Amino acid sequence: MAYKSDIEIAREAQKKPIQEIGAKIGIDGEALLPYGHDKAKVSQDFINSVQSKKNGKLILVTAINPTPAGEGKTTTTVGLGDGLNRIGKNAMVCIREASLGPNFGMKGGAAGGGMAQVVPMEEMNLHFTGDFHAITSAHSLLSAMIDNHIYWGNELEIDVRRVQWRRVVDMNDRALRQITCSLGGVANGFPREAGFDITVASEVMAILCLAKDLEDLQKRLGDMIVAYRRDRSPVYCRDIKADGAMTVLLKDAMQPNLVQTLENNPAFVHGGPFANIAHGCNSVIATTTALKLADYVVTEAGFGADLGAEKFLNIKCRKAGLSPDAVVLVATVRAMKMNGGVAKADLGDENVDAVKKGCPNLGRHIENLKSFGVPVVVAINHFVTDTDAEVQAVKDYVTEHGSEAIVSRHWELGSEGSADLAMRVAEIADSGKSQFSPIYPDDMSLFEKIETIAKRIYRADEVLADKKIRDQLKLWEEQGYGNLPVCMAKTQYSFSTDPNLRGAPTGHSVPVREVRLSAGAGFVVVVCGEIMTMPGLPRHPAAESIMLNADGQIEGLF
Ligand code: ADP
Ligand code: MG
Repeated sequence: MAYKSDIEIAREAQKKPIQEIGAKIGIDGEALLPYGHDKAKVSQDFINSVQSKKNGKLILVTAINPTPAGEGKTTTTVGLGDGLNRIGKNAMVCIREASLGPNFGMKGGAAGGGMAQVVPMEEMNLHFTGDFHAITSAHSLLSAMIDNHIYWGNELEIDVRRVQWRRVVDMNDRALRQITCSLGGVANGFPREAGFDITVASEVMAILCLAKDLEDLQKRLGDMIVAYRRDRSPVYCRDIKADGAMTVLLKDAMQPNLVQTLENNPAFVHGGPFANIAHGCNSVIATTTALKLADYVVTEAGFGADLGAEKFLNIKCRKAGLSPDAVVLVATVRAMKMNGGVAKADLGDENVDAVKKGCPNLGRHIENLKSFGVPVVVAINHFVTDTDAEVQAVKDYVTEHGSEAIVSRHWELGSEGSADLAMRVAEIADSGKSQFSPIYPDDMSLFEKIETIAKRIYRADEVLADKKIRDQLKLWEEQGYGNLPVCMAKTQYSFSTDPNLRGAPTGHSVPVREVRLSAGAGFVVVVCGEIMTMPGLPRHPAAESIMLNADGQIEGLF
């Protein structure tokens, strides 16, 4: 049987006016700020007005370590949201916005897939409501004001060799990773080395996604460290006096975007921080607002559970006072096979032994998630090529590991295929069994926090760090940053720092290459291995075949 592509399905969507979608969760017309007919921002006044309401249940969707076989976290998040609505629950979905740059590199969107998608998917993957452009502008304003401050006499005594604040653009452009700026003579300032990151790697993005409200946003922006003086004392964004104007630029971007699923159920799509040097989930304001409007909120964290869920739980939940009622761990038969050593080209053939061999990766994630005190259910995101014997092998493994696995066919069938999963997830979320707590306390030393994650989540034997790095952590502790959580930046493909080590490795070491303080976002980034903050394009970028067809439709994007 031939299946339609994601974009073909999305184009055929029977969308309802956004006001009707808002009405489903009690947002009336005036509280919606429409961007066209099918997208709207939710007004700040409305958000303030619902604060005293009771919270719904929070459900986190995470996954095993990603493989090129694809896991489908977003697809499952959307499918589960639709499934909950189908069984009569009032549910909504919260996911991230897409970064523009990567869309022109590799094909693939961020709106889910098959019959479990959020629409309008093309816009969501392009300019959408302009949030990322606003973030780029706010970030760029600060960049310009720093060099301008230096130009007009450098009253703050910024050491031009120690400007930390880089520039950003929402494009994969490796040529800009390292640049020299202010060239061309006296009128253009003092030449110095600089560089660009992609917009989603900006600390402004992380802050927008963690801030409670506009006041908190401005405070956090002010707290960002932009440079150091010769005596190594920090210069803050507040010293440059950029925080007020940046907040003005970000005012609208702070408001969550309401869209709908293919089945006309409400979804917030808001924010999109990197999942390595930042925490990788949609905005706190979208999640907390959704919890006031729906009885069940399904949200996704980036990468596998060792990175995405760990940060969702230790950073976002801790800082926003959130507590998940259930966690859905997405696994696929195909990914189990890849973890079991099968090459991508051979994934089409039944191979129960390989499935069994790959399952320990899943088992490790189940154990880890349980250590946060949250109930876990495995969703087997069904591919039409999966055989019954392969599916049964995963189910058996999960049962032996004291959890349960439910097959979900939302990609193929929409909510009809995810109703069983929805039923069970609602039951678990309602059971009140969750006893969530982060796995380290605020007052633990920064290095011990790193060790806790490395040993308890990655199952490493040790953390390796030079004296320089340990001294830096100690200095931050003395300066009052010791109570911050740590944000691990490592490969998403393995529990270890070696991307090729699949399965459930033990006995490895976690080398810390660098630590960075994101004082505004409120975490210490721990870089383990190579981390790219400005991606490049492949030899033949998807952009080469993207175009408008004769009907004005976009071709080649998905
Ligand atoms: P993630 O959020 O984990 O990165 P997505 O949900 O965005 O993954 O899915 C990645 C791709 O895999 C999408 O193109 C989607 O259509 C496809 N996909 C997901 N689930 C299935 C499935 N069950 N069968 C076929 N394709 C799927
Ligand atoms: Mg996703």
